[in-house]
Amino acid sequence: MITFRATKLIFFICLFVMNMISLALQILPVLLYVILIVVYLFVSVFFSFYMRTGFYLTAYCKKGTDDKILALTFDDGPDPEITPAILDLLKEKVPATFFCIGRKIEGNEEILKRMDAEGHLIGTHSYTHSDWFDLFSSTRMKNEFLRTDQKIVEITGKEPLLFRPPYGVINPLLKKALKSFNYHVIGFSNRAWDTTTKNEGKILDRLVRKLKPGDVVLLHDSVPQAVPVLKVFLKMIEEKGFTVVSLNKMFEIRPYV
Ligand SMILES: [Zn+2]
Repeated sequence: MITFRATKLIFFICLFVMNMISLALQILPVLLYVILIVVYLFVSVFFSFYMRTGFYLTAYCKKGTDDKILALTFDDGPDPEITPAILDLLKEKVPATFFCIGRKIEGNEEILKRMDAEGHLIGTHSYTHSDWFDLFSSTRMKNEFLRTDQKIVEITGKEPLLFRPPYGVINPLLKKALKSFNYHVIGFSNRAWDTTTKNEGKILDRLVRKLKPGDVVLLHDSVPQAVPVLKVFLKMIEEKGFTVVSLNKMFEIRPYV
């Protein structure tokens, strides 16, 4: 699979060759330069949305296995009502990973303590989860991760190593920011799209229809529909013979420093 590094290399080789030809022929092929830059930008932006391709970096998105196992992950919490309802459903028996937003942790410290006490994992998902996050500088991104990690450490005494990019987007700025951390970048292979519709049947149908062994399932503990969906989903996967395992067990990685 093509990577960002290879794309950059190809871009600069093309640029060099075009410059040489321009000098030799004493012409400036402006249109060719424009096309080259547009293709480079298109490829770079297109792959930002496809973590599973490993274009920018390697992310854990799915386990290659025939065993009927899956990992459950929740993004964008904690929420004072939704997250406890989800924890009630998991009942300390079904392990999950919660990718928390730092600013939402404020005032919900007890929920984080509960997640940890009940055997769930806590990961970083930025501090603000701003709509403009992917346009932030690398330094600003780094500060967001540090602030969130610090909150998690203050509450649980554990420094997270699991990280999920906001919106599941990876770009060169984020790639640069992540160089300062030892995070395991966690993607997903089966997302509920539960933030785009309130129709529980539709969300469940999407989840179950696509379900495969080794899936990393993404739900949001920020939307109320996640609760009834999870309730039915847990029953359905049990009937299908699936077992929910922790992310760290699935990928054999350390969740904390
Ligand atoms: Zn998110």
